[in-house]
Amino acid sequence: MTGTLSYSGDEIIDQLVRDEREPHREPVVRITGLMVQYYHVCKRELWFMSKGIDIDRGTPNIRRGTHVDETSYRDKRSSFQVNGRIAIDIVDSGEVMEVKVSSSLEEPPRMQLLYYLWYLDRILDIQREGVLAYPEERSREQISLSESNAIEIEETLRGIIDTVSADTPPELEKKPYCDSCLYQDICWL
Ligand code: SF4
Repeated sequence: MTGTLSYSGDEIIDQLVRDEREPHREPVVRITGLMVQYYHVCKRELWFMSKGIDIDRGTPNIRRGTHVDETSYRDKRSSFQVNGRIAIDIVDSGEVMEVKVSSSLEEPPRMQLLYYLWYLDRILDIQREGVLAYPEERSREQISLSESNAIEIEETLRGIIDTVSADTPPELEKKPYCDSCLYQDICWL
């Protein structure tokens, strides 16, 4: 079904794949690109978000990120909703593009983009390359789905299902970016 990659064969992931291939069926957890990003930033943050304890998206940092995303390469990329599940941008070259303000946290946006490539490959049998763009830094990074990072994505998806299915948030653990996190008042009162 898929390109040249082989996958984990994990039952939870196989079930997720079956549900995603039939959009009328709701998966146990509907996993978005943002959830993949949050999982790699802070699992506690992901848990809060999944329980509807949401942050104020009108803050200057978030407004700046949204502005950069909405105004960069707009003439070169088109947005698509895939199965009503994930939202991706495709550039003229056919690559999937993710635009970020800063490359200070490399892993979360990289995993978000890999999730989109995984989704296209594993669910829809569409093989694409990815590009992570940081317009304010005038830099780009090419991202490809491989055997090893496809397994990383499936571990992430299993971790997301475990995290959001739990009744209580993951243990509190100080992170370098807690001071700028919008949940800090909940975590560190
Ligand atoms: S304050 Fe720190 S521990 Fe709490 S959600 Fe934010 S990053 Fe995670």
